[in-house]
Amino acid sequence: MAAVQLSGIFKRYGDTQVVHGIDLDIDDGEFVVLVGPSGCGKSTLMRMVAGLEEISGGDLMIGGTRANSLAPQQRNISMVFQSYALYPHLSVYENIAFGPRIRKESSASFKPRIEAAAKMLNLGGYLDRLPRALSGGQRQRVAMGRAVVREPSLFLFDEPLSNLDAKLRVQMRTEIKALHQRLKNTVIYVTHDQIEAMTMADRIVVMNAGRIEQIGRPLELYDHPANLFVASFLGSPSMNFAEGVIVNRVQGPGLALQLADGAQIALESEPDSATPGAKVTLGVRPEHIETVTPTPDATLEVEVVEPTGAETHLYGKIGGNTWCVTTRQRSKVEPGQRVTLRLPAEHIHLFDTESGRRLV
Ligand code: ADP
Repeated sequence: MAAVQLSGIFKRYGDTQVVHGIDLDIDDGEFVVLVGPSGCGKSTLMRMVAGLEEISGGDLMIGGTRANSLAPQQRNISMVFQSYALYPHLSVYENIAFGPRIRKESSASFKPRIEAAAKMLNLGGYLDRLPRALSGGQRQRVAMGRAVVREPSLFLFDEPLSNLDAKLRVQMRTEIKALHQRLKNTVIYVTHDQIEAMTMADRIVVMNAGRIEQIGRPLELYDHPANLFVASFLGSPSMNFAEGVIVNRVQGPGLALQLADGAQIALESEPDSATPGAKVTLGVRPEHIETVTPTPDATLEVEVVEPTGAETHLYGKIGGNTWCVTTRQRSKVEPGQRVTLRLPAEHIHLFDTESGRRLV
């Protein structure tokens, strides 16, 4: 088991800096997910922790020891990659046994570990097979089996599910989480998929352009994104946004957001930070918008209706942006119809348009 601390970690390739001073404390046994768009530096950061990439500056501590200059094999880490990197000519058993054999462990010492890992990963019946006779999910489990028998203090996963089809991804997500709950080891998991991050993480680290945008528990980030980037990155369908200026309402008391096209969105409460004249971006998640209301805060002309079975998504434009409204009922709304919306005050997010920072 190992806690991991990153202090001021950065990475340069020649003159280009791609990771800019990352500070991150990971507790022993914690499952931390690094998430962000492609190219934001998450794999580079993970590879620096693994020892596969030199650290240009800062301190990396693993289990209380400075690890900057330790060779990968001295770090007591197992890594699972997107490509499973199995040996095609070796059986499942021999693939899992490869590491212990290289380390010249005796067969008597590693055999029970392999059998236990195979049982835990539902590979018991496949130990004699070659990788080509396995499904994608089974191959991924072999890769995990190989990581598990090392009994590492730290597991690193780099986009391990990206090559699997959607259904298998969901299944493996649950399996990896269950594995962690059983082994209780420290995990750093890299993905660009926000749903994976939300469902698997104890804590999420949202990265963008080589920096951390926000760190927190999944629902903390979902409910209180610190800025526009995190707000738009987490959630599917994503949060709806409208840019405008805070004004006094024309009809009735209180404040409204005046959009560029002249439409107004009424604000149900008067947040301290929203004073008339302020340029703000309002955000509200699709599932928080109510569609039946006698005193609407806004109106949406529906362009597309998407039934998913469990819920219906209504799409239309507000202030030039496409908005999505999610309803749990089977909606009878047709394209071209106008629906009136209530945006409950407790679910409204306001951001400073210029800096992107959260106001309330
Ligand atoms: P992510 O994992 O978030 O997709 P990466 O960590 O792979 O991002 O890459 C971060 C940035 O570093 C990207 O802009 C990428 O082009 C750059 N980069 C990665 N590896 C190298 C390299 N060996 N030389 C130069 N630039 C690199």
